[in-house]
Amino acid sequence: MDYQKVLAEIAAELQGIENIGKVAAYIPELGKVDPDKFGMHLLTTDHRHYSVGDSEERFSIQSIAKVMMLTLAFELEDEKLWERVGVEPSGTNFNSLVQLEYENGIPRNPFLNAGALVLCDILISRLSNPKQQLLDYMRKAAGNPDINYCPRIAESERLTGFRNTALVNFMKSFGNIKNEVEVVLDFYFNLCSIELSCRELTQLCLFLAADGVNPANSERIISSRKSKRINSIMQLCGFYDEAGEFAFRVGLPGKSGVGGGIIAVLPGEYSVAVWSPKLNQKGNSYKGMRALELLTTKTKSSIF
Ligand code: GLU
Repeated sequence: MDYQKVLAEIAAELQGIENIGKVAAYIPELGKVDPDKFGMHLLTTDHRHYSVGDSEERFSIQSIAKVMMLTLAFELEDEKLWERVGVEPSGTNFNSLVQLEYENGIPRNPFLNAGALVLCDILISRLSNPKQQLLDYMRKAAGNPDINYCPRIAESERLTGFRNTALVNFMKSFGNIKNEVEVVLDFYFNLCSIELSCRELTQLCLFLAADGVNPANSERIISSRKSKRINSIMQLCGFYDEAGEFAFRVGLPGKSGVGGGIIAVLPGEYSVAVWSPKLNQKGNSYKGMRALELLTTKTKSSIF
């Protein structure tokens, strides 16, 4: 498959369409990005790299980092994890409080803000230095020692994180947060602040296309059984209230973030990352979704 040709065609086709949508500005630092950036990178499990546009430029990966939070928490807690968070699509906004009340403070899935906040709480209870140990885990998975939190973005999140503060307090009232609210929020805001390029993101998540092993150094990140399950959660819950639409149009497990990035994997074949900051009404990158739809259509490859 000539992926380089396919990526070049996708970039050319997307240049011709109107870039509708809005950059996420509810976190002020995210609002400063150039809305017309576009990058895409594809990395095969046999180490071939293909890229187009601004694929080497770092951006705020936001909720995409929740994939790694889930991977580490699942690795440590095993099946016990599911006592504190579910694996069902929510059909609600990523920062919704409504469902949590009906469901006694147990978030529907780990990719909702509430779900990721519970995972932060679990790692805080489990690890001696959770922030550092999560970074170390991500660095190992990516083979990249330069992965770091961005204090500027974390602070911007903290200053405007009223919803997330409400979510932690609400879950604490149900007994599903064990640690101090401020400590959980600090970990969560840092998690969301990580900046990576499309190229780096494909390296970080390639293990999900390779049965849990990083093919670059044969390092096992997670068991094959758990890798399969993380992919299924990405498929069902990775795109806010638009996971069905993403499965319908693209057909790959993936995860988006409000920084305009998306990571997706075709198990056995590749990981692919795309970045375009303008978001559709559901909070997913408008051109990013289009790009991945074109990719699976042109290559006639998806998990379906
Ligand atoms: N930091 C963002 C928030 O908590 C993450 C949102 C996202 O990317 O889904 O609102």
